[in-house]
Amino acid sequence: MVIRGKDNRVSKIDTYLNCAEVFAYRSTCIKRKYGAVIVKDDAVISTGYNGAPRGKKNCCDTGNCPRIEKDLHQGQGYDICRAVHAEANALLNCSREQTLGADLYLTGVNPKDDSIHEAKPCPLCARMIIQAGIKDVYLRIGKGADEYRKVPAEDLLWVAGEEQD
Ligand SMILES: [Zn+2]
Ligand SMILES: [Zn+2]
Repeated sequence: MVIRGKDNRVSKIDTYLNCAEVFAYRSTCIKRKYGAVIVKDDAVISTGYNGAPRGKKNCCDTGNCPRIEKDLHQGQGYDICRAVHAEANALLNCSREQTLGADLYLTGVNPKDDSIHEAKPCPLCARMIIQAGIKDVYLRIGKGADEYRKVPAEDLLWVAGEEQD
């Protein structure tokens, strides 16, 4: 969705989050679709969406994501879905030199009705984001241009259910 500001321009942040949303629709998982965009010095350096490793069968090929069958929700059973997550796929295209100081934009979409799913990296992706030296993570939380959260990568939840340090 394009929402223009007072100057009739779409903000940079909204543009990158929209870009992440476009990639989310390319996702092959039928439970949840995520898109990620890595930006450095005002340029998109990498993109990713969740899907099975290249050459492997996707959730959409088997017609099922086991997470749906087992009625699992955010944070549960990521290992039984075949997908490499959007953030991981985006990071895999980059060297550490590239990701050091870059920002990551993440948008999640519900396949049922294309509504926005409040984006949140899983602990495993959070680890990778921190390790890659990403500075800030922008998470889409609604359709509106201002509906996002900016989280320093360091503050992401990277260990499930444990105290962070
Ligand atoms: Zn899946
Ligand atoms: Zn993840």
